[in-house]
Amino acid sequence: MNVRTLIYSENTELSLQLLGKAIQLSGEDVSAVAVDPDQANVLVNSGAAKVYLAKDRSLDTLRGGILDVVTRESPDLVLVGSSKRGRELAPRVAAALDAGYSGDCFDVQQGEDGFQVKRLAYGGSTVATMKIRGKPAVVSVSPRSFQKPETQGKRGEAIELNVTSPASRVKVIESRPKKAGDSGLENAKVIVSAGRGFKKREDLKLLEELAAELGAKMGCSRPVSADLGWMAQWVGISGKKVAPRLYIACGISGTIQHAAGIRDSHIIVSINSDEAAGIHEISDYSIVGDIYTVLPALTRALRERAR
Ligand SMILES: Cc1cc2nc3c(=O)[nH]c(=O)nc-3n(C[C@H](O)[C@H](O)[C@H](O)COP(=O)(O)OP(=O)(O)OC[C@H]3O[C@@H](n4cnc5c(N)ncnc54)[C@H](O)[C@@H]3O)c2cc1C
Repeated sequence: MNVRTLIYSENTELSLQLLGKAIQLSGEDVSAVAVDPDQANVLVNSGAAKVYLAKDRSLDTLRGGILDVVTRESPDLVLVGSSKRGRELAPRVAAALDAGYSGDCFDVQQGEDGFQVKRLAYGGSTVATMKIRGKPAVVSVSPRSFQKPETQGKRGEAIELNVTSPASRVKVIESRPKKAGDSGLENAKVIVSAGRGFKKREDLKLLEELAAELGAKMGCSRPVSADLGWMAQWVGISGKKVAPRLYIACGISGTIQHAAGIRDSHIIVSINSDEAAGIHEISDYSIVGDIYTVLPALTRALRERAR
């Protein structure tokens, strides 16, 4: 069966990952919704046959725009990037179409009578495989699930959409900037992360020193952030999902909620004094030891090597 796919993400990097998968499934039969002319340009040059440019980024405009393109292109599959915005948008689109929906998927395959998708379940401890029947199937896709397309310089067509938002029923009374800026954890190549093994806030100095030697970002488990307030953002299923080349978990026990956020890391190193801690099971390298002796020793060794 020839599959037609429509893709959308306001994040250009993620929209390219969706495009890579869409081309794999649909060849040239891929349409896209873009949020600005630059993104539209990238997508038409990367293999999308038709790129529809939305009038603005509001949820209603995007929802209306995607529904309009669904009417025009009649796709079998709608792939939406699982950003905060995408997670709000995709189920609304699916509801309006009375279509099957699955969120935060990392795999999508064409089946005999629909699409088969995979997503993590039970806090990331297992993989749920689901079938979506009917047309179109609406799927939101987690970042870094698919590769960007290899093709470059292929010219598709950019088309302006005329859909605008109805007058909003929401009145914004005040906007405040976030207290802490983006920690950059999601794109970090190296992360050193603190757990409740740290006894006092000041002891995070040990982690800071290691981070400085490695050029790493600092993360933590949820209690260190949400309960103790020592850091702005935590890593895990309810925090940031990360995929660094190196993740060093220091004094972290490795519950499924934390593990679900680090499973895409290339190499995981654990430092935990408890030999039976779960974190050792999901680590590539385990150090059974006290962070208060291991961290200074590691930092010292790195400094000496750098000399
Ligand atoms: C709905 C829900 C969502 C959640 N989401 C998240 C999430 O996204 N991310 C997250 O992290 N948690 C999350 N949690 C919390 C999670 O269940 C755990 O409570 C939490 O991950 C434990 O954090 P920890 O490993 O730092 O602490 P602990 O489990 O207390 O582990 C501390 C570890 O440090 C070790 N240790 C102690 N002293 C030392 C020392 N001197 N040297 C070396 N090791 C030492 C201990 O052996 C122990 O293994 C969630 C919970 C719920 C209910």
